[in-house]
Amino acid sequence: MQQRILILHTGGTIGMEASADGYRPAQNFSALLAEKLRGYALPAYDLVQLDMLIDSADLCPNDWSRIACPLTEQWNNYDGFIVLHGTDTMAYTASALSFILHEMDKPVIMTGSQIPLGSASTDALNNLLNSFFLAVNPDIKEVCICFDGRLLRGNRSTKVNSMNLDAFDSPNLLWLGEIGVDLHLNNQLLLSAGPLNPRALTFDPSAVAILTIFPGIQASMVEQILKIDGLKGLILRNYGVGNVPSRNSALIQVIEDAVKRGIVVVNVSQCLAGGVFQDTYASGSILSRIGVTSGCDMTTEAAFAKLHYLLSCGESADVIRNKISVPLRGESI
Ligand code: ASP
Repeated sequence: MQQRILILHTGGTIGMEASADGYRPAQNFSALLAEKLRGYALPAYDLVQLDMLIDSADLCPNDWSRIACPLTEQWNNYDGFIVLHGTDTMAYTASALSFILHEMDKPVIMTGSQIPLGSASTDALNNLLNSFFLAVNPDIKEVCICFDGRLLRGNRSTKVNSMNLDAFDSPNLLWLGEIGVDLHLNNQLLLSAGPLNPRALTFDPSAVAILTIFPGIQASMVEQILKIDGLKGLILRNYGVGNVPSRNSALIQVIEDAVKRGIVVVNVSQCLAGGVFQDTYASGSILSRIGVTSGCDMTTEAAFAKLHYLLSCGESADVIRNKISVPLRGESI
């Protein structure tokens, strides 16, 4: 029987066209896609799109549920799935989907492009053709990003380039695969299969914030954020292996008070690669003493999505603090 995939179009440059105000969603993407794919020997596909296409810069955590829903509803009807998504927040959505969908027995391949499919020099066609190929590969049973010939674990990925076609990388994990003349898969890295058992979750956009530490940051600035109504978790992007300005005792006090109030504070590194080793320096171990949790080598995107996910599951702050550093879907060591 011919293999069949479902393409879910959520928005992004891949389906946009130029206008006087800049790129905006193109009319009749379905016809354009059919025209561009004509003549290639590909699996059969159906295309569905979100009611309102999103420039992924506008994406909110609750859109993760809107994206997960058509996949879970159609899970048994297809051999694999392609999610077309804007590049700006693709790594956040890929991370969130990996937690929401959790175990799976089919590939979910996210892709997009830096240049619209309708433009002459587009990278979209290459990304699409590679994604078709990967979406029916029986060895892949996880949420991946396929971009510029790279197959990356979704929750390990980050957008590293705003202009070049190799826009994504996974600095703390080898690529899961590379598509050149042939497909080379790093089989030993791929997650094993499990039955899909997703939870219908809703996400509260005010529940989690991300804050980057910088030289001279004031306790009062951090305090304002930690007092936001509804805030339950903070991703703190610290220096190097997870260090903070530890001689700023007012700053440390503000963070400690928040932890005592039940806010989960997760320490991730501002560095692209490496991760957090919180007890290496006195300027990091102070965070262990006041109850800040190490985000290990997670990307900011994965830590953010994981914290949202655990909060949506209704876990208590103490349980979340324990679960944050334990990999759920290969997002950390
Ligand atoms: N702003 C676009 C988006 O993320 C950029 C892109 O798709 O490359 O939707």
